[in-house]
Order: sequence, then C-alpha cells, then structure tokens
Amino acid sequence: MPIRVLSQEVASAIAAGEVVERPASVVKELIENALDAGARRIAVRIEGGGRQEIDVVDDGCGIPAEEAPLALERYSTSKLERADDLFAIQTLGFRGEALASIAAVSRMTLVTRGVDEATGIRLCVEGGKLLESLSIGAPAGTQVRVRDLFYNVPARLKFLKTENTERRRIATLVTRYALAYPSVALSLESGGRTIFRSSGSGDRREAAAEVYGPEIGRAMIPLSPAEGQISIHGLVSPPSVTRSNRRELAFFVNGRWVQDSSLSAAVLQAYHTLLMVGRYPIVFLDIRMPPESVDVNVHPAKAEVRFREPDVLFRTVQRAARATLLGHAPVPGFESVGGWGAAQRELGAQSGRPLLWSLGHESAISQGSVELQPALPVGGVPLLRAIGQVGGLYLVAEGPDGLYLIDQHAAHERVLFEQFMQAVDARRVEAQGLIEAKTVELDPPQAELLEEQLEVVRSLGFDVEPFGGRSYRLRAIPAVLGPVDPVQALLSVVEEIEEDEAPLAAEREARIVARVCKRAAVKAGQVLSLAEQQRLLRDLEGCQSPRTCPHGRPTMIHLSVDTLERQFGRRG
Ligand code: ADP
Ligand code: MG
Repeated sequence: MPIRVLSQEVASAIAAGEVVERPASVVKELIENALDAGARRIAVRIEGGGRQEIDVVDDGCGIPAEEAPLALERYSTSKLERADDLFAIQTLGFRGEALASIAAVSRMTLVTRGVDEATGIRLCVEGGKLLESLSIGAPAGTQVRVRDLFYNVPARLKFLKTENTERRRIATLVTRYALAYPSVALSLESGGRTIFRSSGSGDRREAAAEVYGPEIGRAMIPLSPAEGQISIHGLVSPPSVTRSNRRELAFFVNGRWVQDSSLSAAVLQAYHTLLMVGRYPIVFLDIRMPPESVDVNVHPAKAEVRFREPDVLFRTVQRAARATLLGHAPVPGFESVGGWGAAQRELGAQSGRPLLWSLGHESAISQGSVELQPALPVGGVPLLRAIGQVGGLYLVAEGPDGLYLIDQHAAHERVLFEQFMQAVDARRVEAQGLIEAKTVELDPPQAELLEEQLEVVRSLGFDVEPFGGRSYRLRAIPAVLGPVDPVQALLSVVEEIEEDEAPLAAEREARIVARVCKRAAVKAGQVLSLAEQQRLLRDLEGCQSPRTCPHGRPTMIHLSVDTLERQFGRRG
C-alpha cells in the first residue's frame, strides 16, 4: 500500500484510544472537567457498566454557547495558552483532548449554559461528526451524555471486561474523587439505583464514612499534616483495619489521582511491622506541591506523573504516615489475646463440648455421609504423636521416622479447607446461625461485588442478604469454620471475590473457601493444649494433601532419624 495521510476520522479514533480506554476513563475525564469548572455537585449516572450510557451533570460555570462547538475540537482548551504554562498547571485538564476523544468513539450529547448566558446550547455528535446544534433553555452548568461507547471501534469493545467489572471501576473512581474533593457532592447511579452519594460537607472523615461505612470512617486516623514545600493531608487506617490487597492505597497529587508505586512503597514502609504479612492498609493521601515540581504531562490519561525530587517526596510521605501511626496507638501483638482461644473456651463452656476441635470436623461427620479418613495416599503423613508446642507457632511431633515440626496455622488451614470443600462437593454445607445477626457495611464496589456473587456466597453457607444501601445482614456462617469472627469471615469472602476477574465457577469456590479458612484457622501465637495438638495432627493425617496449606506453603518439616544422627555426629 502506498503511504497516505490518515483521514481525520481514523486519526481521531487512534488518538481517542490513548485517552479513552474504557468507560471509567470517560467518567474520569468528565468528572475532572466538572471539577475544573468549579462544580459543587456532580451527578454521574451509568447504564450497562457505562458501555450503554454515561451521563454526567454538573453545576459548574458552563460553556458559553459560541464556544461550545470548539470544546469538542481536538486540542481546544480554555486552560492553557502558552507552552510555558505546561509547567505550572493548576487545572486537571489542559490537553484539550478529552471531549474530542470521547465524541470520536461514541454518540455524545452536550448540553451546557454559561453562568452569564441567557440561553444554553445542545450539541449532538456521532463518531466525531456534529449532527445537531440547537439553542435551548438549560440550567447553568454542563451535562454530557455519552451513549454506545466504542460503537464504531469494535476492537476496543473486545478489550472491555464484564459489565460488572467496568461498573466496579467506575464506582471505585467516583469514591476516590469523593475522598479527594470532600466539599463536592458526588453521586453515582447505576441502572436506576443510587450506589454512592457523598454529602459534600467538606469533612474528609465524613467522606470516608460515606465511602467505607461509618465504622471504618470512624476508625480512620487523620494524618498529622506535613506542611512545607510538600504538604500532605489525608487519612490512614489503624493497623487493625486492613485489606488483603493494595487497592485501597490512593494518592492524589495536586488534586489529580495518580498511580505511583513509590508512593505505595513509602506508605507500606510506614506500616512496617504493624501489619501481618499479606495485609494492607486503607490510605488516602492528598499531596500538594508546587506545580513546577511535578510533570503531569507524561501520559495522555494523566494517570502517571513524574516528580522532580522523588526521594524527598518518598521520605516526607513515609515520615508523615509513620509519625501518625506511632502517635496514635501502641503496636499491637498477635491476635491471640481474647481472640479465637477465648471464643473457643466460651463456646466449649456453653455447649459442654471439648474445646478446640469440636469445630468443623464433628459437624461434618455427625451429619453422616462425609468420609474423612481415607487410606493415606502417597505424600500423606504417618501417624504422629504430639510432643508439644514451640513459640506458640509450631507443633513438635514424633513419627515412625523421626521428628516433625508442624506449622499450626498452615496445618489447620489445610484441615478446614478439605473439610469445607468436601461439604461443598457433597452439597451439604452446614450453616451455623449467629445468636445475633450482624450488619456489615461495605464500600460501594464491594457491595456491588457481593450482590453479584450472592448466590455463590450463600451456597457456601453464609446466610447473608441485602439490608438497604450498602449494608448486608449476616445471619449465619459456615458451621465448619467454628467460632470465628463472622464479619471478618464474610469480609474475607468479599476480598477474595475482589481479587479475581472472571474465574471458573468451581475454582472460585475453592479460592473463596481457602481464603475463609485462612481467616478461621488457629493463629500463630495461640496456645494449644496437648489434646488439641493431637486432634489437629489426627485431622491433618486425614487430609488428602496434608503437606501443604491451601495456598501452597508447607505445613510441616521433617527431621528424619537419619538426619538427626548425622547432625549429632553419630554417623558419618
Ligand atoms: P481540557 O479539559 O483538557 O481543556 P476537554 O476536551 O476535556 O479538554 O475540554 C475542552 C474545554 O471544554 C475545556 O477546556 C473547557 O473550557 C470546556 N469544558 C469541558 N467540560 C466542561 C464542563 N463540564 N464545564 C465547563 N466547561 C467545560
Ligand atoms: Mg478535560
């Protein structure tokens, strides 16, 4: 083919791809435009995860009618004049690309009226072509309605995730901006249902409560503000409030949401030794610095930025977060005190049953039909005799061929996992009713997720139902878990669902079960009586794959008689 200059249409579709990757990027650009326009209220409405329709209404300054058609042209902006301005950007937008890019790949209607204008204007654009321009009455502000995103770029459509995933991304985005702009009232409606609303009161902790629920909102600690060239405000969760992934580490730099791994690293370093392995805090930081010390023009979607002095920023963030955490509360110990052990004793006392291992095993067996003692397969464990416990972490046991050290948490995880999965496979998961139903408040993306997976979660023995807004009512949990904190157990399920995008149904069950069992298993630091130790070993012997925990870590280390003899120099 000969070389040709691309048609305007093709060129804009290519350029649009850089700014508009998915429905959430459209929402982001439209929210940022509204914020730049000084809006105090921004209402986002979506249908079909944003693919079918995205509608953003703001009460900002609006666009004067004669300028409106220009706003839809590429590289047209009211926010930048000279190239020099690029190094002192005060607004979120500046590239003048967003509206043009979105218009190029959708059917867009823009309705706007400038605050000082008598009438407004409506523009309809399809695939970048202006179809209609009409003078109409409209409230001051701007409404952008985007329908059939990517209708003319089918290749893009294929890269979109499920409707649910796209909706979740949008929910996350809106809640992030609600935290960053607590004095703006943001709302998100999806399929006719309001899934999030912030009051715009200006109080960031209130915004956090609106996002994460009142309990977490209350628990969040305001950062001791760092002032200076770099100012930092924000909220950090106490070490007792954690998540299983880094997704709730959010950073805004000069009002812009950025993804930056060094900022995450700085925050995690501040939490060093305060959190258990694999747990992450909830953190929101609003970082302000002179515009010339950060280059925001690195990426068309402006998600990445470049700092002039990354080391200084790293230290400032790390110190501010660390000082806040240490100033707030003493370092907690293991969860053993008053935790699982106490609950066990309580339960044992109530039911008159033996303590620790009355859980799971019995409830599964006593219902009959579940065989728990198959012949030991290859890779099984021999019969073990409990000798004692080391450091509240490991069991010491004797087997026919030497000494075994068993990680009590990993071993119990394995035992619970296999018992649970057998019950799942046999379709007889027992639920254990809670004496008092618990209300669990989730953040909007999580609430969406749970709603989607409600059937799966129920089939696993969680009796849970929507309880208005983002609350859920929990009435029963799987009996196999025994006396675990029911809310934590449910949260671990939600966290697991959060992790995967579109797994096979069967795999999803196993992963959820593994996660819950990890939560329910005896903790490191928990003292077990000899009888309890022996019971755990018996249960482990009964497992199909006793040598690893469900996550693949070893449950035991074997020191053979032979090894011992060599180590003691009895043999050459
Ligand atoms: P940029 O935000 O980079 O300037 P956009 O394509 O997003 O580019 O918008 C182009 C112009 O349209 C903006 O500079 C602004 O003047 C105007 N505009 C867009 N959205 C709004 C809005 N919600 N309220 C007021 N003006 C807007
Ligand atoms: Mg913009």
